Formats: sequence, structure tokens, C-alpha cells
Amino acid sequence: MRTGKTEILNVQFDNITLSEAVGRAAALLDAPEGKGYVVTPNSEIVYLCRKEPQLARVLNGAILVLPDGVGVVHASKLLKRPLKEKVAGIDFAAALMEELSRRGDGLFLLGAKPGVAEEAARRLTRVYPNLKIAGTNDGYFKEDIPVIKKINRSGASVLFVCLGAPRQEYWMQGHMDQLNVRLAVGLGGSLDVFAGQVKRAPDLWVKLGLEWLYRLICEPRRFGRMCRLPLFLFSAMGERIGGNH
Ligand code: UDP
Repeated sequence: MRTGKTEILNVQFDNITLSEAVGRAAALLDAPEGKGYVVTPNSEIVYLCRKEPQLARVLNGAILVLPDGVGVVHASKLLKRPLKEKVAGIDFAAALMEELSRRGDGLFLLGAKPGVAEEAARRLTRVYPNLKIAGTNDGYFKEDIPVIKKINRSGASVLFVCLGAPRQEYWMQGHMDQLNVRLAVGLGGSLDVFAGQVKRAPDLWVKLGLEWLYRLICEPRRFGRMCRLPLFLFSAMGERIGGNH
């Protein structure tokens, strides 16, 4: 299950395509004891691991580590360990929901501001009429236990955790044992997109590898965070020049 890893600045990415990733998630749901969480780190999060080594451990403890963003894919090329493709969290979520619609497994949506997960659920059931949304909860709760109980009562097999990174990664790792779901997926701001509150970059921007620039223009508050992108690429270059591998 954990073959084909590509290490980038201490984070062990799975070198797989989007459809292979969904196949792995489906295989986990088929396995009688299968259980785990999926992370989709972008370059900001990988860079953050330099300051927070425990975050790298949490990421590497996932059953799938998917490269969300062109920065990570560029770094893999710089390091001469090219990843097959970018697997954006939101694309993985969409493909997984198609699979869940076929299988009939319940999905719980956790995160974002009050009302957003419900609106996302309404819109998603229009797109995937057979998708079973088992429940929703906003991401601004103070106590974990009532939320965990609510998720468990819903009977969901899969949980989307959209609390922003790195909180969602720590939350999944810290609570997986208490949760009855089989699969949890950390998906950042995806519920805002599914609820129609935030627009995804148009296809052309994505194809040109400029999704990050589109997000920056739409959400200038991201400027400080995005400054980590060049730092991240410099670090990857440094690793290559330093010949750490
Ligand atoms: N969020 C949340 N609880 C919090 C803080 C943030 O549910 O305590 C939500 C926020 O409303 C947004 C998402 O987490 O929907 C983070 O979005 P962002 O685009 O910043 O996430 P990224 O994908 O960049 O981590």
C-alpha cells in the first residue's frame, strides 16, 4: 500500500495519478480493517515542516500523501525525482465523491463557516444525485468530543476535514482512533468552493500552472503565505546542490 514514494524536503509524497489515488482509497474502503487519513500538502505546508518537524511526521503517517500544487511538482523535477502529476485535493475529492456515489458509502462534511457545509451538501447532491451526505458540521467548534460523537452517529464511512492546514492534519491524526469513519481527507478550503463561495481558477490558469496567482489576485490576504513558495523552491534546490540524496 505504501510503495512509490517520492521524498521532497522530508515529506514522502505518493507518486501516483489522480485515478490511482482514488483506486487506493476505494481499496482501503474494501479492506475489512482499512482505515486511514489522506493529506494533500502544497508547497507552503511542506515548507512549514522545516519549522515543525512533527508536522512532517503527521503528513508521513497518512495512507496517501498527494501533491496539491505545481510548486511541489516543480520541486520534484528539480530534485530529479519527478512526480507523475499534481493531484489537487479538490480534484481528488470530486473523483472520490463519484466513487462514493457508486458505492453508497456515507460522507460527512466537516469545516468552514456556519452554513457553508450545508450549502456545499445541497449543491453536491445536485452534482452527484446518488451521493449520501451523512451529516455536516462547521469548523469553528470549541470542543472535539461532541463533534466526534456527531460524526460517529451519522454512520459516515468517509469524512472531509476542511479546517485549513495544518490544523486539519493534526486534527485527523489526533482523532482517527476515536472516529468510526474509515477514511478522512484533509481538504482545506474545498467546502467554500463546493458551496459556491470561492471560485476555482478557470481551466486555462490551471493548465498554465498559475492557479496560485489566480488565488492570490482573488484573495490578496494570501500574499504572506505565498511568499513561502519561492523559499520552498530555493530549499529544494539547496537540497539538490547539497546532494542530500
Ligand atoms: N476554517 C475552519 N475552522 C477554523 C479555521 C478555518 O473551518 O478554525 C476553514 C475556513 O473557513 C476555510 C478553510 O478552513 O473554509 C481554510 O481555507 P483556506 O483556503 O485558507 O485553506 P487552505 O486550503 O489554504 O489550507
